[in-house]
Amino acid sequence: MPIQIVGNSYSVGSAMSFFQAYSVRLVGFSVLALLLSYALKGDVFQSSFIDSLSFPELNTTSAEVLIIGGSHAGLSAALTLARHQIDVLILDSNAPRNKWKTPTHALPSWENRNPDDLRRASRKELQKTGFASFANTHITTITKPGANESMFVARDSQGGEWSGRKLLIAAGVEFVFPSIKGYEENFPDRILHCLFTRGLEYKGSRSAGLLAMGLAGSPHHSAMLVEDAQKFASTVTVYTNGDSKLGAEISATLLARGEENTVVDNRKIIQLLREPTGDSITIVFDDGGTVTESFLVHQPDTRVNPEIVSQLGLETNERNDIVTRMPFYQTNVAGIFAAGDCASPFKMIPNAIFQGSNAGAGIARELPRRITHNHIDRLADKETTWYG
Ligand SMILES: Cc1cc2nc3c(=O)[nH]c(=O)nc-3n(C[C@H](O)[C@H](O)[C@H](O)COP(=O)(O)OP(=O)(O)OC[C@H]3O[C@@H](n4cnc5c(N)ncnc54)[C@H](O)[C@@H]3O)c2cc1C
Repeated sequence: MPIQIVGNSYSVGSAMSFFQAYSVRLVGFSVLALLLSYALKGDVFQSSFIDSLSFPELNTTSAEVLIIGGSHAGLSAALTLARHQIDVLILDSNAPRNKWKTPTHALPSWENRNPDDLRRASRKELQKTGFASFANTHITTITKPGANESMFVARDSQGGEWSGRKLLIAAGVEFVFPSIKGYEENFPDRILHCLFTRGLEYKGSRSAGLLAMGLAGSPHHSAMLVEDAQKFASTVTVYTNGDSKLGAEISATLLARGEENTVVDNRKIIQLLREPTGDSITIVFDDGGTVTESFLVHQPDTRVNPEIVSQLGLETNERNDIVTRMPFYQTNVAGIFAAGDCASPFKMIPNAIFQGSNAGAGIARELPRRITHNHIDRLADKETTWYG
């Protein structure tokens, strides 16, 4: 075989008391009180997020729907819910997955643009609807008081408490990087996690490597990623970090697909070095050998906030994503939906927007007027420029 192997406070009560308290809140809060209360919280009010994304003022502590996560999935859900005249409260800590803010790709109309600008545009649009309120905070606990209550209460570590009838988890995921020295320093510049969103930028490369490790290191997935990388680099080597069995399986899978020239290196990796020029990455092996590649391909493991998952009893799968039911992304817990990166292996903005929109529709359908008692023209009650 031609294969080379080299080594916020709100009292929770009946549905009616929810709406009475809610109205009182809306009337009772003044902008001054808000500014004062949040100035006292200091770090919340003065967050760089307000500066960078023109964050609207918090004007309520309860809404029909609580959304944890104000990025692509959460904002998309909020817009869909606004179109059914349903109030949402978006709680967001401003830590989206692409914290490196690399230019956006593979999203129609937003090619090569800043992902923050997209979220900013989406928030402005939502602000106009009059149905969305925002709080810039990191939620640490979410509870559902009372077995028969359709009410969720979210709290942050500073005493903030917010509540809603339905809950959407759109909190994204966090990376769990492999414990290889130098890995984080090279991500995402020289370690590419998705060759659709970032790959073309590396076209014409001399050589590349695939790190076959972690949850995405299966033979089938690795074979696909090798073929992806071959579109941009002359040679692609598979690095298994000491797993020769996996190396053989990947070779066999690629051979079965017709790929005869797979190069596999099973040596243990001890460090990844960033070259001073910034245009390549060097792998250091435990035998003292080194190899320099133009880029490496690797999908790091991810996980959803484990505290929130366990507090709510949400089911997760082998990839640590929240399990949901199509088409509305309902979780295993009544009244809780999940959308975006936290609920899908397809961790891309188009999917986050799609899932957010569907989850928003699912939530709206669980909130008919016999439950909400909402007016049929709520826009007339709001000071909004939405629809003239
Ligand atoms: C380097 C890199 C480049 C990428 N490039 C592209 C690209 O070009 N095109 C593309 O389509 N996709 C790209 N992606 C993927 C894209 O960023 C994600 O798919 C997308 O951001 C997912 O949106 P989301 O709303 O599900 O989650 P996120 O955008 O991750 O947002 C989750 C939000 O929830 C908030 N949150 C989390 N926990 C809490 C809490 N406890 N309390 C309050 N708020 C909370 C976070 O602060 C965050 O704002 C890239 C990803 C990376 C890492």
